[in-house]
Amino acid sequence: MKLFIPGPVQVSEKTFDAFCKPMIGHRSNDFKKLYGIIQPKLQELFQTTQPVFLSTSSAWGVMEGAIRNLVGAGKVLNCMCGAFSDKWLDVSKRCGKEAVGLQVEWGQPIRGEQVREHLKQGGFDAVTLIHNETSTGVMSNIAEIAEVLRDFPEVRFIVDSVSSFSVVPIAMDALGIDVLLTGSQKALAMPPGLALFAASTRAMERAATVKGRGYYFDFIEFQKNQAEDMTPSTPSISHIYALQSKLEDIFSEGIAARHARHAATNDLVHEWVRSRGFDFFAPEGFRSKSLTCVANNRDIDVAALLSNLKSRHGFIIDGGYGKLKGKTFRLSNMGDETISSVGELLGALDDCLTA
Ligand SMILES: *Cc1c(COP(=O)(O)O)cnc(C)c1O
Repeated sequence: MKLFIPGPVQVSEKTFDAFCKPMIGHRSNDFKKLYGIIQPKLQELFQTTQPVFLSTSSAWGVMEGAIRNLVGAGKVLNCMCGAFSDKWLDVSKRCGKEAVGLQVEWGQPIRGEQVREHLKQGGFDAVTLIHNETSTGVMSNIAEIAEVLRDFPEVRFIVDSVSSFSVVPIAMDALGIDVLLTGSQKALAMPPGLALFAASTRAMERAATVKGRGYYFDFIEFQKNQAEDMTPSTPSISHIYALQSKLEDIFSEGIAARHARHAATNDLVHEWVRSRGFDFFAPEGFRSKSLTCVANNRDIDVAALLSNLKSRHGFIIDGGYGKLKGKTFRLSNMGDETISSVGELLGALDDCLTA
């Protein structure tokens, strides 16, 4: 079986081998060496001079943590355009914060001017944005929103790049992003269970003043331990070995070549969608580069397609997230996929659709 769902995605044998290395102590010199070696590569990928922290949790741990560290007595604006971004409002509220939703219809992106209209009302500590809304295949324009945030220096900018990290460039420092976070099992094609994030100086200054940060996701704890090439508590060392291996892959391919590969595989899927008479769920100019959310305008039996694709070709795709089930299906080109492997998927789809 091969996964073409938008997370978790297929994990290479090389990554798995690294994942299965024998354990070392998390306070040992071997661990500190491992941690130290990957740090500059992570900083380059994050396009930041800040340290990159490793959290043994899924992305949601850090998504919740960012709220608890950066939102004090002020409000948080949660930009909502799909399942993951909608949930972030709920999480903010569960953390006891005053949360305001900027909701757009599923399938639409978040626009800078919409963010400005809300921030103009004043009293906001932070904005959350999901760069690539995996449920709808919509990629919002971070640069456009970052530009608006420059007019509100007291507001911290929290960006989820779970399904776009290392797919397209995200210039954390240059854009003024205060927290950039991602997870292991999507664009990075590792097993689930690790989250990576970096925080700006402004973010850390804010965190130091916010009460109720807790312990496990306290950014200040991460910073203290980072100074000694360690994590606050025992991390998933297996993930860090897998990450080291993945970073070797990324840097031997080259970051620009990796971006180009994703653009090419994404184009291939787009060509297929158009030529087979399907529509895109996302509007032109805001379509994800790591997955494609195909609108089921042909009214095919999506459940039958999924089942045939699995039984006849061993490929697993997604049949639409939540309320989009059956109305869309999603094809992932994240991780290690190539023109050839995506071509195989598209050929298999043709086989199942004409059968
Ligand atoms: C999958 C996903 C998440 C949640 O990740 P978990 O690993 O389940 O915590 C958050 N944001 C986006 C954009 C995602 O695609």
